[in-house]
Amino acid sequence: MVGERKGVDTRSVTGHSRYRAVLLMGAPGSGKGTQGGILGQIPGFYHFAMGDALRVINIRSDLGKIFYEYTSRGELVPDDVVIKFWAKNLDAHATLGDFKPDDDLLILDGIPRTVNQARVLQQHIQVQRIIHLVCRDENAMFERLRRRALKENRADDADEKVIRRRMKVYEDATRPVLEFYSKDIVAEVESVGSPARVLSQILTVLAPLQDQHFSGKLE
Ligand code: AMP
Repeated sequence: MVGERKGVDTRSVTGHSRYRAVLLMGAPGSGKGTQGGILGQIPGFYHFAMGDALRVINIRSDLGKIFYEYTSRGELVPDDVVIKFWAKNLDAHATLGDFKPDDDLLILDGIPRTVNQARVLQQHIQVQRIIHLVCRDENAMFERLRRRALKENRADDADEKVIRRRMKVYEDATRPVLEFYSKDIVAEVESVGSPARVLSQILTVLAPLQDQHFSGKLE
């Protein structure tokens, strides 16, 4: 991406050099993936889930081996590896045209996950809003993760020890990311109740943003 790209610039033709983005944040099991998936179906939003992008890497490749080594323990993949992969992957989607930076607001789910990632990402994205999904019921979060592990065959969420590690990593490394950004752009959404109810609250925040994006009024 910035500073790395040689040759044709795949970035916005409107002159904005950074992708406009919304961050979906929340602890494992807070429902980020579900909400991100639904938002990604709405025209004008492009959903990018870091965990999903990492999971499709061939496990026998060098990158796949690194990914498995960390994920299976509930640890974060090192920042430099993740950011390089993210940047290449997103640029490829922009080149292919399924992500249209001029039309689409980028919904980032699962990145940044450390303050260092947030700092580096500043070169690549303009964060317009952060949706912070809050679930105070730890049992409900565990239950969600376990159900998903069975459905999607995810080793990291099948083991209680790994889930606990993921929760701890979230508290220690990812929660501080919220403080990296201005409080004014953070919207807290309680992720309790039906997916439709949670979605309706998220849309209350994002619909006006999309209006501004479409009318060219976003900075
Ligand atoms: P997720 O599906 O978002 O819960 O991600 C699954 C796993 O992928 C995480 O537990 C990490 O091991 C790894 N991962 C996903 N996103 C990142 C990131 N931004 N930085 C480091 N590791 C990540």
